[in-house]
Amino acid sequence: MEHSGAGLHVQFWGVRGSIPTPHAANMRYGGNTACVEVRLQGGPPVVLDAGTGIRRLGLELRGCPLIHLLLTHFHWDHIQGLPFFDPLHHPAQTLDVWSSAPPARLQATLEQQMSTPYFPVNLTEPPRRPSYNQATGHGFEVGGIKVQPIELHHPGGSTGYKLSANGASVVYATDHEPGSAVHDAALLEVAAGADLLIIDSQYTPEEHQAREGWGHGTWLDSARTAREAGVKRLILFHHDPARDDEAVAALVENARTEFFPTEAAREGWTIQI
Ligand SMILES: [Zn+2]
Ligand SMILES: [Zn+2]
Repeated sequence: MEHSGAGLHVQFWGVRGSIPTPHAANMRYGGNTACVEVRLQGGPPVVLDAGTGIRRLGLELRGCPLIHLLLTHFHWDHIQGLPFFDPLHHPAQTLDVWSSAPPARLQATLEQQMSTPYFPVNLTEPPRRPSYNQATGHGFEVGGIKVQPIELHHPGGSTGYKLSANGASVVYATDHEPGSAVHDAALLEVAAGADLLIIDSQYTPEEHQAREGWGHGTWLDSARTAREAGVKRLILFHHDPARDDEAVAALVENARTEFFPTEAAREGWTIQI
């Protein structure tokens, strides 16, 4: 769909899966775990996941009064940066957190992460007062952006999100293992025609054979999903900790043989759609 006026601004702060990998050979794509910022021009930031990439984003957001955070699930690589997210510790900044879990469970899970013996500062101590919300199947709106949750196929579950505004749309579908007909069909339906598909592409097809059930997809799955959904651009995401820059670039080349407009997410990269 063509759009007029301000579309969506997308910025990658963390693109790695599983664990941070700050090695010299990974610096082109980056070593921080999942965190992507989306915003409508002039609107508040909508942050996807709180992996270690969220720490640097927090420094950029100093003084920002309202920040929305959408969590896919609670595996460490998606929440581990939260205790170091600067705005969380400022009384003048409000953090509005969403996940598919009921608010009480979302709150309990994040409070447990930031408590003894895991962390010296408790999430329950003022001024840390995030608001907790449940992302339901009906969708909701934050920061002027319409959000549609998508249930993905992952151990313990993961929730993807489609964000749309002014005719522009981004689908964030990380921690998803293709192969479940119900989940695959739902993802294809929601992603149909999206401008940008950011999707879990952790493995090669060969690696996946040894890691079935671990909850992640391959560059080939991603390219096929992109083609079937008719998205405009494919962004490979959740790079394997063992994959250095050269190896990530090789995955992109492979994926382009199936779906040409493919790139790999890299830290600091911004896209305007
Ligand atoms: Zn993950
Ligand atoms: Zn996960």
